[in-house]
Amino acid sequence: MTTSYDYDLFVLGAGSGGVRASRVSAAHGARVAVAEEYRVGGTCVIRGCVPKKLLVYGAHFAEDLQDARRFGWDVDHCRFDWPTLRDNVLFEVERLEGIYNDILERNEVEVIPQRARISGPHEVTLEDGSKVTAGTILVAVGARPFVPDVPGAEHGITSNEVFHLETLPKRVVIAGGGYIASEFAGIFHQFSCHVTVVNRGDRILRHYDEQIRDRLLTISLMKGIDFKFNAPFEKIEKKEDGSLRIQLQGQDPIEADMLLWAVGRNPNTEGLGLEEVGVKLGKNGAVLVDDDNQSSVPSIYAIGDVTDRVQLTPVAIREGQAFAETVFGGNPTRVDYENIPSAVFSHPPIAGVGMTESQARDKLGSYKAYVSDFRPMKNVLAGRNERALYKIIIDEETDQVVGIHMIGPDAPEILQAAAIAVKAGLTKKQFDETIALHPTMSEELVLMR
Ligand code: NDP
Repeated sequence: MTTSYDYDLFVLGAGSGGVRASRVSAAHGARVAVAEEYRVGGTCVIRGCVPKKLLVYGAHFAEDLQDARRFGWDVDHCRFDWPTLRDNVLFEVERLEGIYNDILERNEVEVIPQRARISGPHEVTLEDGSKVTAGTILVAVGARPFVPDVPGAEHGITSNEVFHLETLPKRVVIAGGGYIASEFAGIFHQFSCHVTVVNRGDRILRHYDEQIRDRLLTISLMKGIDFKFNAPFEKIEKKEDGSLRIQLQGQDPIEADMLLWAVGRNPNTEGLGLEEVGVKLGKNGAVLVDDDNQSSVPSIYAIGDVTDRVQLTPVAIREGQAFAETVFGGNPTRVDYENIPSAVFSHPPIAGVGMTESQARDKLGSYKAYVSDFRPMKNVLAGRNERALYKIIIDEETDQVVGIHMIGPDAPEILQAAAIAVKAGLTKKQFDETIALHPTMSEELVLMR
């Protein structure tokens, strides 16, 4: 490796992708520095997947405690205390941040706690004005919540702030119908807040199978979550008592105590100096890269959400690994983007892998969809009228299972294992030959006829 630069690799952003790329490159012998302007761990660990999942667990107790009565438990004096959960979650996030720092330190990666911008194909300028050089620069700065240009938009918060609320709002409006909106609608509802989801279009979670997302909508409405569809925001006013008056086009205004913007996340490239050095950016400012994560400037690479390919943590980690193996490990590696499983930690959760039924209809000569629509045993005894729905899509010509979609308790836990079968190209016959594990919900996957 060259010694004419200060570092072999300079990484911008110590999130999931940046940390993986840094430590693996260092393990291959590269001299690595990573600049982080906020906290080591990035969105997933600090203000995304991890604290969100902990809130989902916390929220789920509301239903569990209700159901517990039917299982003989006396839970009459239960009370929820938001600051206890909030502070425990933030403490856990701090612990994980420490672990990430340790990983970098153990691998001799220098952590620079400053914002950095690119000032040349091999040069980075730090916030304190100092300049450093590197043979390769990796942009792994992630994405940030998008806030639309609506009068009064600043009265809303984003997923960056939602983990730090002083108190729980009584009335919550959530803008958007994607991952974050669906997950936080469930969380706030379980905490007894009144939730209204406001979406610009007429459907939630549009990348998921239609039947599955319809089921989530039905269950959410049954639980008491309100939805407003085809309802663009007009303006938001803050009233003297601190509450909000939210004006939507063609609808009655909504009074709320909190507005959460969950309308997508944009690549975090503003002011990073990329275009000035010749790096081509795509829509929303995403760094355009080839299959090896290389940008239009050969010494500059990018991975993760900043490339706006698949905004998922495990994908960013794979891209970070592939980058390090290719550039510093002498082992050219590419990420396989086929059949990536994903989940929405709504109440109940959704999970899916492969083709939805409408994709199969468009892409395959002939397909077949098998559906199991059932009430989980636990819900029956609990008197909870919530049905699960599992769906298997097969290519009729080959009998191959090309998609699995589920909504129901623990769907993401079950789907991770089932996704291996889809990735391996197993057939429906092979599913059917597998003996059921009884009594479970997942046995439905091998019992659909
Ligand atoms: P999503 O892309 O999931 O959803 C965005 C929602 O906002 C959609 O309903 C979209 O409507 C709507 N929208 C988009 N632009 C506008 C606009 N200009 N005005 C009004 N509405 C708009 O975004 P999220 O913010 O929920 O999440 C960001 C990303 O983070 C996700 O894409 C996902 O990759 C990742 N994430 C993953 C999670 C997981 O894996 N469980 C959890 C949380 C986030 P329309 O459908 O009409 O486009």
